[in-house]
Amino acid sequence: MRFSEFKKYIKRGAFVCTGKLLINLEDLKIYHPEKNKRIILVKDLRNYKKDGIWQIYPIATSKRQIHIVCPYCGEIHSHGRAEGTRLPHCNYDKPDYNIIFTE
Ligand SMILES: [Zn+2]
Repeated sequence: MRFSEFKKYIKRGAFVCTGKLLINLEDLKIYHPEKNKRIILVKDLRNYKKDGIWQIYPIATSKRQIHIVCPYCGEIHSHGRAEGTRLPHCNYDKPDYNIIFTE
């Protein structure tokens, strides 16, 4: 989902009950795709590449999911609530990323 949708999502009552933000959303770096300046994409500057593989920190957790900033598309992806290797849903040509998650 886009960052703007994600912000609406975390404001909803259901998220407040079951979820938790792990960073201040203002710490995410905002940028725009070249062709559409109205679209807001984000970068999580905590994420880094190790041996060519993105290491990703969740920005939020909810009951069954973790939410991350995708290093490929700049949108928010949701995955099952555990750490490990994941396929980026937006771009199957790109290498998997590794989610770092400790409770
Ligand atoms: Zn993506």
